[in-house]
Amino acid sequence: MSTVAAYAAPAAKAPLERTTIERRPVGESDILIDIKFAGICHSDIHQAREGWGEAIFPMVPGHEIAGVVTEVGAGVTKYTVGDRVGVGCFVDSCRECEYCRQGLEQYCVKGNTATYNALDKNGEPTYGGYSTHVVVDENYAVRIPDSLSLDVAAPLLCAGITTYSPLRHWNAGPGKKVAVLGMGGLGHMGVKIAHAMGAEVTVLSQSLRKREDGLKLGADHYYATSDPKTFEELAGTFDIILSTVSAPLDFAAYLSLLKTDGALVNVGAPEEPVSLNLFALLGGRKTLAGSMIGGIAETQEMLDFCAEHGFGAEIELIRADQINEAYERVLSSDVRYRFVIDTSTI
Ligand SMILES: [Zn+2]
Ligand SMILES: [Zn+2]
Repeated sequence: MSTVAAYAAPAAKAPLERTTIERRPVGESDILIDIKFAGICHSDIHQAREGWGEAIFPMVPGHEIAGVVTEVGAGVTKYTVGDRVGVGCFVDSCRECEYCRQGLEQYCVKGNTATYNALDKNGEPTYGGYSTHVVVDENYAVRIPDSLSLDVAAPLLCAGITTYSPLRHWNAGPGKKVAVLGMGGLGHMGVKIAHAMGAEVTVLSQSLRKREDGLKLGADHYYATSDPKTFEELAGTFDIILSTVSAPLDFAAYLSLLKTDGALVNVGAPEEPVSLNLFALLGGRKTLAGSMIGGIAETQEMLDFCAEHGFGAEIELIRADQINEAYERVLSSDVRYRFVIDTSTI
């Protein structure tokens, strides 16, 4: 065991504070990562405040981790000391089920082990990236290409893969019209990735406040959903709508913007169940779908794709003592577009 510094929520809804935690010894297939940067994901806040149900405290959030390998276990084959690596939303899975075998560990039938707010195989709590070091099995880390700075790479580990995976799965690319609903941490990555895939990209945002940014990041069009004319003008337009919002939506209204055979894919979910008249799907053979993060191999593919196209996330770099303030700003959508903690300040 080694004692390392971290920022933790001591209890639900309590502000995060500096503390120390124990990391497990570096096992046979483990790597020790000196964490350089950790992104702040909206789900960190949900969990630290028990918005998604009972949680484990103290909690060290953070599943957008970028750092450098400083020690490797005797059986490690993929990484050596000095390699630049990332860790995303999970750090283990059963490795045997049909989904794990296909590289879809995010859908492991036994459930994967979340990077924080979970218990590992030995029943020990997992602690996330708001920390100076983490020990992780080499099979659950990914390589960060040299051309990507670690700070802008960190948010790719959740926001990047969460938008990349459905865009790939539903075949975003040349000749396809993709709408990205919401222009926040996830949405801004959706715009960059869909554009880089060659799709024609439209942002659907509540207002036109971030229009200039959206166009700069690769959107071809930008509409305000608060304007009823948007829905008239864009009826039957899109092959794919990627919804990154977790506020309750008028799903029928958004489904009306799809072409025949179009898909409305949710990567965010409202806390309350939704009701929908299914005729909104029948006419036009439409799909209402969901998608959750991505597997390890696909996360590597996404990082390589971003490096090849020369982009990471748009970030605001903060010190660890600004985390609580950053949480408030995330809740009021006052961030362009991802807070990233410089973990050397912990
Ligand atoms: Zn996340
Ligand atoms: Zn599995």
